[in-house]
Amino acid sequence: MTLTGHHFIAGREAAPHGHLFHAFNPTTSAQLEPAYGDATHAEADEAMQAADAAFDALRLATPETRATLLDTIAEEITALGDALLERAHAECALPMARLTGERGRAIGQLKLFAALIREGSWANACVDHAIPDRQPLPKPDVRRVMLPIGPVVVFGASNFPFAIGVIGTDTVCALAAGCPVVVKGHPAHPGTCEMLARAVLNALHKVGLPAGCFSLLHGKGNDIGTTLTKHPLTQAVAFTGSLRGGRALMDVAAARAHPIPVYAEMGSVNPVFVLPGALKERASKIAEAYVGSVTMGVGQFCTNPAVVLGLKSEELNQFISNAAALAGKVAPQTMLHRGICEAYDAGTAVWQTVKGLQLVGESETPSSETASQAACRIFTTTIDVLESNAELRREVFGPCSIITQCATLEDLLRYANSLEGQLTATIQGTEQDLRDFAPLIRVLERKVGRIIFNGFPTGIEVCPSMHHGGPYPAASHSFFTSIGTGSIYRFVRPVCYQGFPEEALPELLKDANPRGAMRIVDGVMAR
Ligand code: NAP
Repeated sequence: MTLTGHHFIAGREAAPHGHLFHAFNPTTSAQLEPAYGDATHAEADEAMQAADAAFDALRLATPETRATLLDTIAEEITALGDALLERAHAECALPMARLTGERGRAIGQLKLFAALIREGSWANACVDHAIPDRQPLPKPDVRRVMLPIGPVVVFGASNFPFAIGVIGTDTVCALAAGCPVVVKGHPAHPGTCEMLARAVLNALHKVGLPAGCFSLLHGKGNDIGTTLTKHPLTQAVAFTGSLRGGRALMDVAAARAHPIPVYAEMGSVNPVFVLPGALKERASKIAEAYVGSVTMGVGQFCTNPAVVLGLKSEELNQFISNAAALAGKVAPQTMLHRGICEAYDAGTAVWQTVKGLQLVGESETPSSETASQAACRIFTTTIDVLESNAELRREVFGPCSIITQCATLEDLLRYANSLEGQLTATIQGTEQDLRDFAPLIRVLERKVGRIIFNGFPTGIEVCPSMHHGGPYPAASHSFFTSIGTGSIYRFVRPVCYQGFPEEALPELLKDANPRGAMRIVDGVMAR
């Protein structure tokens, strides 16, 4: 496919103009063609108007049509073949094996949501039949179901060009719900965005839905994202990225005349508690898995385990020296883009000025001057140093982590109590540890979205029970997940029908329940 640098506005291709930018190959620093441009306010308005105009066609299409759309997008992505992987590799430096796996995850997500909406139970339909002779007052017929909210603006993430990008989790569940999508492409991989946009538009054309259901606007700098968030037709925003970016968009949305939700996933430090029983049993195995998790994807995961806490002991010392030795053996790897690599080096450089923090393990110096390569860096410190230095409690995005030595359970509890909202927390322990440290779990339940036992937080399963979110600042709304089928609830709202005749009700609320969806009927869960 020849890349054009075009924006895709409801099927209309708009050539870039004004301020132009290029993607860069992070491995070679070479500039990649073609040039992309910042979308204008008029183009943003055109995309939002088209999305709003397409809303009725998408939401009133049968679930089968929307499911076919998702299946067809999956086919179109598959048809892009290796060219898609190669462009993403050139723009993001993610290894081909990782990109192949991520493309599989993106396709799996599309199929998962297709199955979800075909079946229908997700819409939480609820039927309360009338009781005309109820005393002292008759009970009306009341029914409720989830309906789509309207056009959604999606900010693709830099670190998952497929699974959280143009056709990623946000776009997929918005389209599944019946919401048109306008994507603000990530400026680090615009060519990948363009290829994926064509796949979505081809699929819309094949199933006969309006092209206005999907637009892609490029842009580098905050202007276009801010404009889309402010646009009066935007009903919600989905964002994955930095706390600074997510918070800025939340503030823009809150300041609108009609505020809208911004579903922002903004990362966290994902503490890991290595408890004494586990360290006695398998310190070296835990160290191996830990360094594997820290360096997976060059540490560019919002679930990277950036802080480890354990009680001072011989076994903890052993764990630290094992992890340090393993870090030394990890080859430096290329990060997503130069800016992320510079932020990583600057962040860990600040850490190295903190008195009482020691760098105990580091991969060899990056070999290439042109590549944005990052060395894995493992530090150790004590709980008092961690607690008294605010910079150690902030996420540094990349393959680094701090192993913190604590004296008592009270230290662990005090730290856990002081945590800001987190996406995850992890316990490495035995069942006896879980009993001995039960108060720690009780604190973590108040702080995090997902608690992992004897695993590591990187590698997120896309499934109905997944919760990828957490209290602020990990995410903007702790109730919602951005991954897994539950993510669809960000883009729907309940609508209640009172006294409507059967014929005029949405399909999921009809007595016949033609799709056999699970519903609550007169207080009883039933198909
Ligand atoms: P980012 O800087 O937050 O940018 C993400 C997207 O939001 C980009 O499209 C960016 O476009 C836009 N944006 C950012 N700030 C904005 C603002 N104030 N107003 C309007 N639009 C805005 O994230 P990134 O480029 O992926 O990486 C930078 C840092 O984000 C990393 O170093 C890391 O700390 C963090 N990060 C977190 C996660 C996570 O999973 N939570 C994932 C990746 C990165 P423009 O730059 O064109 O405005």
